[in-house]
Amino acid sequence: MRVAVLSGGVGGARFLRGLVDVLDPARVTAIVNVGDDLEVLGLAVSPDLDSVLYALAGIADEERGWGRADETWSALATVQALGGEDWFRLGDRDLGLHLVRSDALRAGEPLSAVTARLTAALGIDCTILPATDDRLRTWVDTPNGSFEFQHWFVARGHRDPVDRVRFEGAAAARPAPGVLEALHEAELLLIAPSNPFVSIGPILAVERIRAALERRRVPCVAVSPLIGGRAVKGPAALMLSRLEGGTSAAQVAQCYPGLIDALVIDEEDAADADAVSELGVRPIVTRTLMRDAAARRALAEAALSAVAIA
Ligand code: GDP
Ligand code: CA
Repeated sequence: MRVAVLSGGVGGARFLRGLVDVLDPARVTAIVNVGDDLEVLGLAVSPDLDSVLYALAGIADEERGWGRADETWSALATVQALGGEDWFRLGDRDLGLHLVRSDALRAGEPLSAVTARLTAALGIDCTILPATDDRLRTWVDTPNGSFEFQHWFVARGHRDPVDRVRFEGAAAARPAPGVLEALHEAELLLIAPSNPFVSIGPILAVERIRAALERRRVPCVAVSPLIGGRAVKGPAALMLSRLEGGTSAAQVAQCYPGLIDALVIDEEDAADADAVSELGVRPIVTRTLMRDAAARRALAEAALSAVAIA
């Protein structure tokens, strides 16, 4: 079975690791958020693509939840000592990848082409695509002002409540080469347990990607990033409260109106199943905490089971 997966960083990366364990990786295409991308110290950084690359290559730091394992920080210490821009933490090993990518982009290579080269160099067998090669940047409007995504998320510790999320450049952004083909050839579309607003939202802000999902002929299954109404990590629950009025599984389903046929929810949220059904979305109740390889595989199997019941 061919699948296309919309993915953010950490939650998406964990889910993709489960998927490539239970499916032929050659049949898996990840379509990854680039709204978080930024330039730091002259380097092009794509945090969500990197989380996916590192996770699938088996070199991610699983405890920290971002960046590479066995990381060292000498370059950043030097930046700090010299009074450089040090709010965004770049490890030494991580920097190597940013150097290669930045050099290629500066030479005119599209992000999708660089990503394909990095994917191959890291020995990854599935396809990893940025949602778009065009510039698309997430902004959040808060009572304390409007901020670029990473400025809000990292520098301000995502403490400001979010009233609105905006995607600069989305109107002109075209799907990266291969994205529409992957969506059209897939027998199942998946939305990873990523933040609906700031990880999946920027992907769906690319009009032709959203339209491909709206006009799908195959099922689309999302996995909720909340367990017991709480995020495993990050601001998803707070954002859902403020922007959708609550953190139930039905409110997660409402983030994807007309876009999903089923929602995988945690056993802790089983009481929400009827409310999800009432939205015309089939609830699939299972354990969704991806604490180890077995749990990741089980969650992937649960999401894939939607094909059988569609
Ligand atoms: P980011 O771009 O690195 O912030 O990552 P994503 O948006 O892809 O993932 C963040 C979301 O993943 C958070 O809302 C978490 O609640 C969710 N998440 C992380 N680990 C798990 C897990 O094991 N199970 C589930 N269901 N969600 C998870
Ligand atoms: Ca992200």
